[in-house]
Parts: sequence; structure tokens; C-alpha cells
Amino acid sequence: MNVQEVLNWLNDFATLITDNKDYLSDLDTSIGDGDHGNNMLRGVIAMQQQLTEKQPTTIGDIFKVTAMALMSNVGGASGPLYGSAFMAMSKKANESEVLADLILAGENGIQARGKAELNEKTMIDIWFAVANALQVKQLTQRVIDDAIAATKNLQATKGRASYLGERSIGHLDPGTVSSGYLFTAMMNNLHG
Ligand code: ADP
Ligand code: MG
Ligand code: MG
Repeated sequence: MNVQEVLNWLNDFATLITDNKDYLSDLDTSIGDGDHGNNMLRGVIAMQQQLTEKQPTTIGDIFKVTAMALMSNVGGASGPLYGSAFMAMSKKANESEVLADLILAGENGIQARGKAELNEKTMIDIWFAVANALQVKQLTQRVIDDAIAATKNLQATKGRASYLGERSIGHLDPGTVSSGYLFTAMMNNLHG
């Protein structure tokens, strides 16, 4: 993993968010307040601007710039959570460049902030699945797709969707879908 690969990863993430902004907001309309696509779009635009302006030269600094951009521009519940993920990944990157270690650190960062456990229909579900698959070197697009699909039949017990109680069942979790784009972009650009 080198600096250029990580920049390409984040750039592809921004593209996937931009291309799927309306889909993300539609998912959030079903079980939330309909803003997840716009939230994420603001975040990735700020991320790209700041990466261009600040020209970070280490992987740790790239994640730090990303964390700050997402933290202060995404808004909603997901902004601080993505910010915490990338901040934890930034710290971890200074000691390890093993992808499994980085994503596990990111997952722990989200959990430290949002207090969600597995199967509460939040983005933790996919971060957990991807961290586990990386640990055993078995991450595929199928793992990502399955983690997204698995949120459908869960009842949300954290975040705005939890206000719906049982009516949150039957819909995909928007934050899991946006994190899925992060991991698809990762798979397409990083090779361990
Ligand atoms: P808001 O709900 O404030 O409008 P967004 O729509 O941008 O924020 O983000 C909603 C997403 O945030 C959810 O789909 C879920 O994946 C994620 N989320 C919400 N609360 C938590 C939490 N406590 N831990 C992890 N993820 C969470
Ligand atoms: Mg929302
Ligand atoms: Mg909102």
C-alpha cells in the first residue's frame, strides 16, 4: 500500500458517493431523514479539496486530512462516525500499514464514538464484516454485498432509524451502503 494507491482509493470512494448520492438519500428517506446522500457528498467534496490543498505525503496524514474533512462537513450522525474511523486509521497507520489492522482500528473508532454493537443495523455491521474478512485474507465484493443485504432484515436499535422500531425492518441501512462504497473502492485500488 502506498500513498498514491490510498489517494486513488479515496478518489474512487468520492466518485461512488457522487454517482449514488440520490440512492443513499432514498434509502435514508425510508428509515431516516433523507439526507445521507447529500451529507456524504458534502463530505467527499471537502475531502477532495483538502487533500488537493494540503498535499499530505504519508498515509497517516492522508487519513487525518480525510477525518477532519468528513468530521466537519458530513454532519448528521455519520459525520463524526466517519471522522472517528479515519482518525483511528490515521493513528494506526503510523505503526502498521496492514489493511486488516487499519480497518479494525477504524471499526473500533466508530464503536468508541457511537456505542453500536454488531447487528444494530448500523455501519458497524459492514466495518466488522470487512475487518474480519481481511483478517483471514478473504475479502471479496461478495462479503461487502452480503453485509449490506444482511442489514435489511434487522431492526435498528441505534441512530435515527431506531425511532421506527419494527418498521425499520425491511430496508437497507444507508450508512452501511455508503461504507460499502468505501470498501469497494478500497478493493479496487489496494492489494493488501
Ligand atoms: P442522520 O441520521 O443524523 O441524518 P446520516 O443520515 O448521515 O445521519 O447517517 C445515518 C447513518 O449513520 C445510519 O444509516 C447508520 O449507518 C449510521 N449510524 C447512526 N448511528 C450510529 C451509531 N451509533 N453507530 C454507528 N453508525 C451509526
Ligand atoms: Mg439522515
Ligand atoms: Mg440528518
